[in-house]
Amino acid sequence: MSSRLSVAAPSGVSGAEGAAGTGLDLARARELFEKKITRQLVTYFHACAHCGLCNDTCHYYLATGDPRMVPAYKADRFRRVYKRYHDWLGRLVPRWVGAEELSEAVILELADNVFGACTMCRRCTVNCPMGVDMGLLARAARGMLDALGLTPRGLKATVDVHLQTRNNMGISGEDFVDTIEWLEEQLQDEVGDSRARIPLNKKGARMLYTLNPREPKYFPLTILAAAKIMYAAGEDWTLSTNYWDVTNYALFSGNDEAARTIAGWLRDEAVNLGVQEVVMAECGHGYRAFRWEGPNWLKASYPFRVRGFVELMAEYVRDGRIRLDPARNDKPITYHDPCNQARSGGIVQEPRYILHRAAADFREMNPHGVQNFCCGGGGGMLSMTEFAERRIRAGKVKADQIRATGAEVVATSCHNCLDQLMELNKHYKLGVKICNLCEVVAEALVL
Ligand code: SF4
Ligand code: SF4
Repeated sequence: MSSRLSVAAPSGVSGAEGAAGTGLDLARARELFEKKITRQLVTYFHACAHCGLCNDTCHYYLATGDPRMVPAYKADRFRRVYKRYHDWLGRLVPRWVGAEELSEAVILELADNVFGACTMCRRCTVNCPMGVDMGLLARAARGMLDALGLTPRGLKATVDVHLQTRNNMGISGEDFVDTIEWLEEQLQDEVGDSRARIPLNKKGARMLYTLNPREPKYFPLTILAAAKIMYAAGEDWTLSTNYWDVTNYALFSGNDEAARTIAGWLRDEAVNLGVQEVVMAECGHGYRAFRWEGPNWLKASYPFRVRGFVELMAEYVRDGRIRLDPARNDKPITYHDPCNQARSGGIVQEPRYILHRAAADFREMNPHGVQNFCCGGGGGMLSMTEFAERRIRAGKVKADQIRATGAEVVATSCHNCLDQLMELNKHYKLGVKICNLCEVVAEALVL
């Protein structure tokens, strides 16, 4: 891994190949910087006491030992620029107080820093006595860099494809319907009921279910698992062909306008179908983006409830709507908490409630829940191939956590985490099976 925070543009950062002399519009950069400086950010700039308590909270620092990976150091890259323009000492004697001009080199280092060395997991935030929110700082910086055309290509392309095709993998309506129809036949075979349905565009259904595009594209069996659970629970649900994507990578690119458009599509489709509830498939950032950030982007609350599928499954179990046999999952199993779902979304107890009833030998990672370590795949990191080596190295903290449990199966509730865990499994030779939580539940279902 290259642990350096280079002053050259990260390879693949669109619009800025090479180092200085890339033709960045510094006046515009300064204007965008000022726009991003909210009162909240100013509070964080002033609040850091440089106490060092966040040092060993970050998986990047723990995996590399590089002091430039310390959260407070990363936040300081942003703070130094703020000081240069907003602090009287910073204006008078910038070098003396460590203030920095918003130069090309500083901008490119910031890009490497906030895109390539922070998954916005917010583990440092919950351990900071001053509440400095590195995830928020990183997103604000990413938003500025996005407007300057400095978002890494893969992340930018994911958002662009979503805006162009209404799902982030460009899956056509025809392919989507074909896949769902095929899965409906599979469902009927599995449950032995020719009336079992995966409903499409059912107006007035109680609930609209969303999907991660990775499901119809690569993991259709997770859709089948969810459909089987909802069949067993007798749920009144529907999918939509008009809008079905649970993801919103604009949370990671920092582009508020794109984030608003994407959240608005799902909100509008839920209203159009007249559902009482939108249930987000197992996707950490998608859940956080729509449930917690969406109303802020849209500047309005939703006329329906929003929950994650994990919450709904826990309710099914609690209300006796589904019955589980833990003996069907007899291998030792552990659970990886997706940061955006647990730390930033509040879903901590539900997966444990489920796993204690769906598996015979559930083992916790240490630490877990709100204190769980990021797998290294958050923040859109899997789409930014230029940081792949760094991502895998930072994931060693998670690999070590998994190994220490002695588990043979790792369940999670997020497709980004799932992909990263699969890569870690291969790279660190963990020899475990990685799956979504709904697959564990579907396996344990007593129909
Ligand atoms: S824990 Fe908070 S206050 Fe302490 S150095 Fe880190 S960011 Fe600053
Ligand atoms: S938000 Fe997560 S990845 Fe970013 S600095 Fe804090 S602990 Fe590290």
